[in-house]
Amino acid sequence: MKLFNTASRKVENFKPFSEVVKIYTCGPTVYAKAHIGNLTAYIYWDLLVRALRAEGFSVRRVINLTDVGHLVSDGDDGEDKLEKGAAREGKSVYEIADDYIGLFKKDYSDLELAEPEVWARATDYIPEDIEAVNLMTANGFTYEIVDGVYFDTAKFEGYADFARLDLEGLQAGARVGFSEEKRNVSDFAVWKFIKPGEKHAMRWDYLGRPGYPGWHLECCSIIHKELGEPIDIHCGGIDHIPVHHTNEIAECYAAYKTSLASTWLHCDFITIDGEKISKSLGNTYTLDELSERGFSAMDFKMWVLSGHYQGTRNFTFESLEAAKQRRLNWRNRIAMLYQSPSNDSHDVFKIILGSVSNNLNSAEAFAIIDNSELSMEDWAKVDELFGLRLVADSPDIDEDTRAIIFERQVARERKDYAESDRLRDLLAERGISILDTANGPVWQYI
Ligand code: AMP
Ligand code: ZN
Repeated sequence: MKLFNTASRKVENFKPFSEVVKIYTCGPTVYAKAHIGNLTAYIYWDLLVRALRAEGFSVRRVINLTDVGHLVSDGDDGEDKLEKGAAREGKSVYEIADDYIGLFKKDYSDLELAEPEVWARATDYIPEDIEAVNLMTANGFTYEIVDGVYFDTAKFEGYADFARLDLEGLQAGARVGFSEEKRNVSDFAVWKFIKPGEKHAMRWDYLGRPGYPGWHLECCSIIHKELGEPIDIHCGGIDHIPVHHTNEIAECYAAYKTSLASTWLHCDFITIDGEKISKSLGNTYTLDELSERGFSAMDFKMWVLSGHYQGTRNFTFESLEAAKQRRLNWRNRIAMLYQSPSNDSHDVFKIILGSVSNNLNSAEAFAIIDNSELSMEDWAKVDELFGLRLVADSPDIDEDTRAIIFERQVARERKDYAESDRLRDLLAERGISILDTANGPVWQYI
């Protein structure tokens, strides 16, 4: 298995520390419905897990659900996203978190994504967060100011390395009004205090005051408790490199004196019709909105997997339509296998897996599928690798439908075209079309 490791900036042969590959994926902030940009990442990381399993590895994977204390900006100011969701919908932050966790998990299963071994809710790890801050403080990495406990990034020598940050440039460019109390512009809150009168429903006592964890802390604590660092693979979006992942690495080192992960994978962003995804452009499509336009979750997954996680991808409805047609074409190749079974084992799957194992090159794997003859066994393995429900969504026709096809053929032979058209329409209602070939009728899915 070869993977592009963001930490080393090269493609490397993947080697886990032990028999079980420990993987962590930074999960969603649960304050709004996931749009197709957010979901893209989970599809890539699902392929990673499936490919590792196909290569014979055991995997233990954790995804966190950020249900607390994640501010709208990457800095330590701005509005809490859950408070924002609660105000928008007239609900409590706890209801907002429960609702959107439910909706996220529904998308997740509609996309046939392999369940992680642990779904970790940030609010379930507050004692671990506090323990981690205590350790960071005991090890001399934090200082307290009026609005929280901050990480002194100057104390962690390698702070700039992961993202190749230009700390001097950052310091020089610090905006006027930047918290006077912060020692360095890159310092960040590991724990925030709630000011008297400040509206913040989620709160825990620490250092004799109400407060809540800083954004990055949950990943550090959850990994420590559920996996144990260093883990084998840590995944997320490229936007996480300069702040979130850099800070996770710093916290982990400061608390536990170890590195956080040996391999880091980051996926690039998708644009829609060449534009970034944003509410103001009205292009934050959800799976439900794709469904209203006639595209299933599987069609969308086909679209995602026809490209590469490191590439910038441009989503258009034309390209989604092409992905949908490609899936239909594959299903009809399965339909052909019911009608003229082939026992050939071409061992195509090995070649397909070879492409995916080469830094998740599913686009190349898809081209191999397009251009090779696959047996039913190959299709079943393709489904296991990509989770595309090709075989499950392509059942053989039942006896009743087979009888209608036969009757239609008889009607055609006696030139009763009205009857054969009626039977053709009946078949269409069952999602089946007929191709009349030299060897007789062949049925296909519509
Ligand atoms: P947000 O809730 O908008 O902050 O998004 C959560 C995460 O989803 C981000 O940190 C990104 O990693 C990912 N994400 C957001 N927009 C896109 C996009 N257009 N393409 C790919 N990933 C995205
Ligand atoms: Zn994280």
